[in-house]
Amino acid sequence: MGKTIIILGAGTGGIVCAHELRKHLNQEHKIIIIDKNEYHFFYPSLLWLICGWRTPEQIQTSLEPLNKKGIEFVQGEVVKIDRSNHLIEVNGKHLNYDYLVVSLGAELNKTSIPKTETIFNFYCLAGAKQARAAIANFKKGKIAVLISALPFRCPAAPYEAALLLDYFLAGKNTRKDIDLQIFTPENLPMPTAGPVLGRSLKQILEKRKIGFNPNLKMRSLDGSLREIRFEAERVESFDLLLVVPPHQPSPLVNQAGLAGETGWVPVDPKTLKTKYEKIYALGDITAIKLPNGKMLPKAGVFAHYQAEVIAYNIAHEINDSPMRKEFNGRGSCFLELGYGRAGFAKGNFYASPEPLVKLYQPGKIWHWGKLFFERWWFWKWF
Ligand SMILES: Cc1cc2nc3c(=O)[nH]c(=O)nc-3n(C[C@H](O)[C@H](O)[C@H](O)COP(=O)(O)OP(=O)(O)OC[C@H]3O[C@@H](n4cnc5c(N)ncnc54)[C@H](O)[C@@H]3O)c2cc1C
Repeated sequence: MGKTIIILGAGTGGIVCAHELRKHLNQEHKIIIIDKNEYHFFYPSLLWLICGWRTPEQIQTSLEPLNKKGIEFVQGEVVKIDRSNHLIEVNGKHLNYDYLVVSLGAELNKTSIPKTETIFNFYCLAGAKQARAAIANFKKGKIAVLISALPFRCPAAPYEAALLLDYFLAGKNTRKDIDLQIFTPENLPMPTAGPVLGRSLKQILEKRKIGFNPNLKMRSLDGSLREIRFEAERVESFDLLLVVPPHQPSPLVNQAGLAGETGWVPVDPKTLKTKYEKIYALGDITAIKLPNGKMLPKAGVFAHYQAEVIAYNIAHEINDSPMRKEFNGRGSCFLELGYGRAGFAKGNFYASPEPLVKLYQPGKIWHWGKLFFERWWFWKWF
């Protein structure tokens, strides 16, 4: 009898999982993907968008074409995971599943971010679009990039944002009049990737005269005084602020009994199985503890590889095949530096006792790699 696999969230991991399932399963089995948005958008390009090198239209695409690829797309906000009855509630209907893949990503908590003309949440499309206009008109003063809380998705992105801004402002000849500062609760950039990579990135920031202010936990933001208040009574002013808002898991996973102590979903690090039969979770919504006690960073590359493993294993179970795959903690990322160059970090985050991550010599090739990957992403899945 045909099985139904429901995927919650058509972001990075959900999209890959749906396609991989379709590849391995015949049409007798139904694959349903649900997302509250009509469009899928490619997060890494938000950084190019804030500098005006992309338009919002160029970095998003409709999810409707999935229906022509044997994947049923349902647009609607999931309001309940009814685990005991194997049902998903969406658009006032109840959809039945045999297997469930939870790929709901991370939510941005915007309540601590005042709405003003100088503060921009560049981690979402609307905020990045507004930031783009403000940055284009900014001539003089202090731009701050603030990581407001941990964990947050893409450990590299705030640093890339600062480096790309540095390049963009230099091109407009305004960089000499603009102080660029990063504030973060981390002790080094991208700490999970280890101290060597962190120190290399810190040196790059120093060379580019971008201030790196570590170990600072945001307490509050004052939009009218244009001030960031940190714990330990430190206050920093800004003229324009790009903020990474606090991230939080969807309350749905807690209601469904899938969440762990931190609210994120604990999964088997290799199989991505939750504690419940036939329910898997992947990507940003998961909590995976590494051998060194830190958590696996929230990054698209991991969501992607995890999705492949989940799809392969579900399909082979349905097809009565003993073949299984495991997620091995490997991942890589481009690190945009501006001036047409990028770095490339690659490694094994499951290595013990510490992740083994190598930062390759920055160059043009990695920047081209990132440009190519953006094209490939839309071509491959849509
Ligand atoms: C600026 C920026 C740059 C980045 N650059 C990189 C990079 O270079 N490399 C990299 O590896 N990662 C990068 N990332 C991180 C990467 O985009 C995420 O880690 C990745 O998208 C996580 O995939 P996911 O499938 O877990 O979640 P998401 O891609 O966030 O997908 C979750 C989906 O669930 C949907 N959803 C949520 N709640 C509901 C609901 N109740 N009902 C229906 N649908 C719902 C959302 O609409 C969304 O489409 C970047 C992120 C940012 C913000």
